[in-house]
Amino acid sequence: MPEIQVLSQAVADKIAAGEVAERPSAVVKELVENALDAGADRIEVEISRGGVGLIRVTDNGCGIPAEQAERAFLRHATSKLTEIEDLERLCTMGFRGEALASICAVSEVEVITKTKDAEEGVCLAWKHGELQEKSEIACADGTTMLVRNLFANVPARMKFLKKNATEAGYVTDMLTRIALSRPDVAFSCLCDGKEVLSTSGDGSLVNVILKLYGIDHAKGSIPVDYTEDGIRVHGVAGQKELARGNRTRQTLFVNGRYVKNHVVSKVVEEAYRNLIMVGRFPFFVISLELPATLVDVNVHPAKTEVKFADEKQIYDIVYHGVRNALYRQMPQPQEKPQEKPQEEAPGHTASSARLNDAAVSPALVRKYMESTMPQSEPIPVGDAERKLEELLEQAESVPKHRNENNITDKNSENSENNKIIDNIDNTIEETPVKQEAFAPTVRILGQVFDTYIVCQRGEEMFLIDQHAAHERFRFEQLRKSYLNRERLTQMLLCPMVLQLDYREKQAIMEEMAEFVRFGFDIEDFGNNAVIVHGTPIPGSEGEIRDLILELAEALREQRRHPVADFEEKALDKISCKGAVKANRHLNLAEMQDLAEKVLALEQEGATTCPHGRPLKITFTKTELEKLFRRKP
Ligand code: ADP
Ligand code: MG
Repeated sequence: MPEIQVLSQAVADKIAAGEVAERPSAVVKELVENALDAGADRIEVEISRGGVGLIRVTDNGCGIPAEQAERAFLRHATSKLTEIEDLERLCTMGFRGEALASICAVSEVEVITKTKDAEEGVCLAWKHGELQEKSEIACADGTTMLVRNLFANVPARMKFLKKNATEAGYVTDMLTRIALSRPDVAFSCLCDGKEVLSTSGDGSLVNVILKLYGIDHAKGSIPVDYTEDGIRVHGVAGQKELARGNRTRQTLFVNGRYVKNHVVSKVVEEAYRNLIMVGRFPFFVISLELPATLVDVNVHPAKTEVKFADEKQIYDIVYHGVRNALYRQMPQPQEKPQEKPQEEAPGHTASSARLNDAAVSPALVRKYMESTMPQSEPIPVGDAERKLEELLEQAESVPKHRNENNITDKNSENSENNKIIDNIDNTIEETPVKQEAFAPTVRILGQVFDTYIVCQRGEEMFLIDQHAAHERFRFEQLRKSYLNRERLTQMLLCPMVLQLDYREKQAIMEEMAEFVRFGFDIEDFGNNAVIVHGTPIPGSEGEIRDLILELAEALREQRRHPVADFEEKALDKISCKGAVKANRHLNLAEMQDLAEKVLALEQEGATTCPHGRPLKITFTKTELEKLFRRKP
């Protein structure tokens, strides 16, 4: 075995640096935390080339006295020991006096700093841990840290970094969390000269959310504040409409630090039970404050995990805090989740009230407009207006009509929407289906659980899963068009502006060519927004946003680990979004139409939804007879 040797200081520093300065976002985190520790209320971050070229953090904090500036870069140098005598606590807060030394070992650092009392500031330049220069300088109060050519002397670490845009994404993601934890501090971030994030520092969490996530999240933020046994849970929980297909908009702080805790996330999600669908995740920014003795934060710089002494207690408090907040803000009983829809009396006035609302909602008007649009040609403006008027007339006449005919179905308003969906499908078909023109080959007996259609044909009775059936139909339509290189795009009359975060936008912009192939018409809309002019399927703004984000993620994954049938998977995602959902009342014509479609699909050999669930379950007359023991 070779002789045991002591590593040189330079090598040891590089190894230690790997722990603190794992990647540019970790460096930014350390520098920003130092600025916060210095009492700054304005912090500017600038990065170039994903942080590898340059990281600049400027603060208006207390500054470092000139005679101490050099010491700050020594390993285990910290000024925070006197403030916190208890060593254990010092460590849990993450003050290990290592950050600057570590960053300095793997880059070129320049620090410009001045305290309030000093006449002049001081400027120090370091390269790979060696002091290069020290001079006096005229500057503002506070500190600027410039980190250049990060990891230039550590090729192994350099290789492990992702694309610049991805690293920049990690930086903005991390800054987003810090900004959410400190509404009292104004943050800004420039990425290659473009501002990607800014908050005002006025102390309002909702204003931070407005700046970072846009108006819908700010409006949809429900305040949470609940204290029990000295444990406080506060922040905001998003309205159910803001739920998404992933957890990227969930932020948890424990005693002011951003942490990840899957179980707490689950508990918050549990508070949303029956409010949002399975597979959807609520938006929240939740802070937990509790005595330091009840929590163990692992402060390894690269980790953000946390353990609680009494988990059950914490979870109960989080659950109650969030659940109470959600239910408190629900104004009308009919806005409640339809946990027990059968309790709503037939003809309940609430239904008509809702119908009125729905009838004039711009989203519905838009859906209707989309449905009436020809496939490739833009609709003439005059026609559009006429259609809109027709729709509004129709909408106005609906409640009257309902009263006259004493229609008391609680779900009728959904049927109005479904007609629209029907129309959408008809526009895709070459020859629109006219129900009356067909002698039905299948008899519709009804709908059960607002999910399955019961049919009879000859000696067979069968049940159709309406969502699976509609999804498969959509999928086949899209696939045919895609393979024939036909245009999938349906232009929107009212383009949608999607407010995204930096990473999300970046992901979409990178895959723009693919989005075009799948029938999207998307354009850069400045800052962190994109504008959607056209989509392959109609859908609500939320559905389209989710779809686009999911596709961006899938496209990205495809680049990393290509799969052979990717197009099918993507088309499946698309077709699933706009499909008639389960738990939706359908009228007879809609059921008839869907049943015909299922039978036609069956003829083509398509008997399952794109995920492999059956479209139809059949009982023959003989089978029923056997079940009822009429026949052996
Ligand atoms: P720690 O934060 O654990 O003390 P660091 O290596 O991050 O260790 O920083 C070392 C010391 O440098 C800090 O304790 C602080 O005194 C000083 N320092 C670093 N950044 C700043 C800043 N932006 N403003 C004022 N002082 C700073
Ligand atoms: Mg520090």
